[in-house]
Amino acid sequence: MKNLIDFCNKITPANWHVTAHPQKYVFTGPGTLNIFFRVLDHFVDGWIYALKKDSMKFYPVSQYKDCSEAKRSLEKYGEHFVAESEIWLFPQGCEFFGDDSYAATVHELSHVAVDRWVAFKAKAYKKGFEDRPSKKRLLHGEQFCRAFQMLIQRVEKFGGNESKHILNSLRFELNCYLHDLSALRNPNEWVGRSMQHQDWI
Ligand SMILES: [Zn+2]
Repeated sequence: MKNLIDFCNKITPANWHVTAHPQKYVFTGPGTLNIFFRVLDHFVDGWIYALKKDSMKFYPVSQYKDCSEAKRSLEKYGEHFVAESEIWLFPQGCEFFGDDSYAATVHELSHVAVDRWVAFKAKAYKKGFEDRPSKKRLLHGEQFCRAFQMLIQRVEKFGGNESKHILNSLRFELNCYLHDLSALRNPNEWVGRSMQHQDWI
């Protein structure tokens, strides 16, 4: 699992910190996001093997009382909010369905990126924030596709050799979402392949 967590830290922005141990959260000033990566030994809610748990939470840095790094950050930057997210993964479940733990994690990190954009828009790092996801927001809609694309590019750039094998399946997955989106936008348009062009020759 350590390799997978190292991979997450390579492909995410510098002020994101992924760890399997909440005691190892970092405090690097305003904008810090700690992601707790929980490794499961069972499926969740039926057959779910990878998920982003709940929405992003924001806590004043002064609340992390037992952590000396948090105290230093408080002294240096004054009071500010620190974000927390959670990703859950059941690696054997992933394998059972022929999915790849690395690819599944990139997908869940993209959901975290969407949460972060929503939070930034709401100025959550300044005043705290609780996201109430709207039913209208598509799970794998435009924002998700943008985040997913950004992370795929980062996998390509920073992911190292061990992640090269997931790039094709990630791009394929992204194209499926984009295809569904365009079908949603043009519900009356035929999207199948056809021999139509032959009629015109
Ligand atoms: Zn998803």
